[in-house]
Amino acid sequence: MKQVLFEGGVVGAGGAGFPTYAKLSEQASTVILNGSECEPLIKVDRQLMNDYVKEVLSGMMMFVEAMNADEGIIAVKKSYTTAIEAIRFHLGEYKKLRLHVLPDIYPAGDEVVLIYETTGKIVPQGKIPITVGCVVVNVETVLNAYRKITENRNVTTKFVTIAGEVKNPVTVEVPIGITVRELIDLAGGLTREDSVLIMGGPMTGNITSMNAVVTKTTKAVLVLPPNSPTVSKRQHNAKMDIRNAMSACSQCQNCTAVCPRALLGHSIKPHEFMRSIANGITSNVDTYLNSFFCCSCGLCEFYACHQDLSPRRLLDACKAGLRSNGVKIPDTPDKGVANRMREERRIPEHRLVNKLGLHKYDIPAPMMQGIGVFKQVQLNFRQNIGAPVQPCVKPGDMVAEGQLIGTPPEGALGVYLHASISGMVTEVTDSYITIKQ
Ligand code: SF4
Ligand code: SF4
Repeated sequence: MKQVLFEGGVVGAGGAGFPTYAKLSEQASTVILNGSECEPLIKVDRQLMNDYVKEVLSGMMMFVEAMNADEGIIAVKKSYTTAIEAIRFHLGEYKKLRLHVLPDIYPAGDEVVLIYETTGKIVPQGKIPITVGCVVVNVETVLNAYRKITENRNVTTKFVTIAGEVKNPVTVEVPIGITVRELIDLAGGLTREDSVLIMGGPMTGNITSMNAVVTKTTKAVLVLPPNSPTVSKRQHNAKMDIRNAMSACSQCQNCTAVCPRALLGHSIKPHEFMRSIANGITSNVDTYLNSFFCCSCGLCEFYACHQDLSPRRLLDACKAGLRSNGVKIPDTPDKGVANRMREERRIPEHRLVNKLGLHKYDIPAPMMQGIGVFKQVQLNFRQNIGAPVQPCVKPGDMVAEGQLIGTPPEGALGVYLHASISGMVTEVTDSYITIKQ
């Protein structure tokens, strides 16, 4: 199965895009399907678990069997009632699979939170899920694996939700490499011209442009007003964030109180980090090293902080700085037990949506079928975690949809890249390939 997934170009479709073949492990006792979508406004997983329920459940069984795991857990949020119904209808056909209904909290889709919610196990800080015998897979990833294994279909498309200030919010399956502009057109166009585009969810996505292209990890494009809190914070720079922290952090500890990793006993404490960075304290280096244990969920800055500060952005900057200086994740043990107030401190998703002022946009984005033909795609070499691919086509070559156009360097972590439409290769740069019909 590893080789098939590698050649099929299958990577995690819901997060950073870890090559799926590299997750397969003989030590796994539990495979967990992450059907929690994680961020508000994104509607991909719940619809796939309804529209492709048999493919997803069969795909899950393939993962369970390939790893000889004891069981597969289908983890779905309580509010996804249609998907739950569809899963319950078919689940009896799959002996090793069981359904786990998750509370509607944020971030239910964080791997560490998901594993605790479904199995009661705590992944030690800085470690990966297999440390506690678990492998977590995304719904679309499982569908892609199923399609490759049963139909020899390589990954050439992506399911994306387009929501916010658009005429018709939709979820679509599109060729990898089309532009955000084309996605917006599929949703009927903008409803206000001054909107800001976010690639990804409101909590962890990034500001993007109309010319950006869909990759194997694009899950949503959100169109939000410029005064939306999720937009304005992203327009600050780190200097402004530190200045604001110096003048306004009251050390109330609200950020640490709701931090999902701190609530599972990990050493991250955003209020301590803010105290150190705001005052230039260097005597306790652990405060900075603990930034490695932050999952960047954004609850501290978008939900908890009454002073409108940005602990997550500063933690991200700290992590990036440490990494670029060669500092590795410290191998220090955590408490190993969850905070006894954890259940009460979990954040209901509807409260987060209200706090972000997004309730107006939290409406269905139905799956649209038969979306037509795309004349051009740009396929980036870097689509996932690991090494970027090296092209194996040149300008002038004719390629068919699904044909191999790039491979990772020998022995490096990575997967194959395939043409997402049929046509002629018109450009090969040092970072992407363009194909035109
Ligand atoms: S919630 Fe805000 S003000 Fe309170 S400690 Fe955290 S960063 Fe400081
Ligand atoms: S972003 Fe904030 S709340 Fe989330 S894990 Fe990091 S420190 Fe904790």
